[in-house]
Amino acid sequence: MPRTPTDALPALDLDEVRRGLEARDAELRERIGVMAAAPERGSTLSFGKRIGDGTIEAVGRLTDVGVGTTLELEEARVARALEKLDDGTYGLCDACGRPIAPKRLRAMPESVLCIEDAAKLRR
Ligand SMILES: [Zn+2]
Repeated sequence: MPRTPTDALPALDLDEVRRGLEARDAELRERIGVMAAAPERGSTLSFGKRIGDGTIEAVGRLTDVGVGTTLELEEARVARALEKLDDGTYGLCDACGRPIAPKRLRAMPESVLCIEDAAKLRR
């Protein structure tokens, strides 16, 4: 199994990181899969007709859509981090190639960008 240079990652156990990411990936896929497979409920619901279960359910569905998008984005990041573990570039920024701060990797093991490039993306 390829190894990231240890000087870039003094205190990270890559096997542990991989296990954590794989578990997270499986969990995210399951949650995304469950949502994608859910029957299309409430397509005939109309807002405002009657305050009650229908309204609450419609709001719940809107929330689910937002969660789904976030989950898919997170799953994509986790999958990319696992890919980087495989090709030995885990811990190196996808944009500039410099090492990502170990502190950042411990807080967010799915990080594939250094803090500077992540900040650029958000702008
Ligand atoms: Zn960078």
